[in-house]
Amino acid sequence: MDNCIFCKIVRGEIPSKKVYEDDDIFAFHDIRPHAPVHFLVIPKRHVESLAECTDADAGLLGGMMAAIPKLAREQGLNDGFRTIVNTGRVGRQEVYHLHIHVLGGPEPIPGPMVGH
Ligand code: 5GP
Ligand code: ZN
Repeated sequence: MDNCIFCKIVRGEIPSKKVYEDDDIFAFHDIRPHAPVHFLVIPKRHVESLAECTDADAGLLGGMMAAIPKLAREQGLNDGFRTIVNTGRVGRQEVYHLHIHVLGGPEPIPGPMVGH
């Protein structure tokens, strides 16, 4: 998508601190971290939100989720982490390109929400 900020990050048109990349998935540190470690896992393909996903996206979604434990360990999150997917208006999604927040640090992450 031409005007999507996360598509631009995938294409390298906007710089990011990359955590991981493969054929289908890109992960990078959040620009406004809400925890000592806060990164986002996104599909390279533009998917608006979890609300748009169907059975056809099960492989992609599974791949994103399955990548997280290793990435979390590499970021030093050896005692757990929080994963969050904000979806749509009611879910207070700000960027309409599907992303999984991964948050962690030495201490438990306060509050269930991100960004609000
Ligand atoms: P949402 O509220 O949609 O779940 O979260 C969007 C996240 O994207 C926010 O935590 C915000 O800080 C992050 N974000 C927005 N624009 C950029 C950007 O240009 N670069 C990076 N690295 N993160 C961004
Ligand atoms: Zn996009």
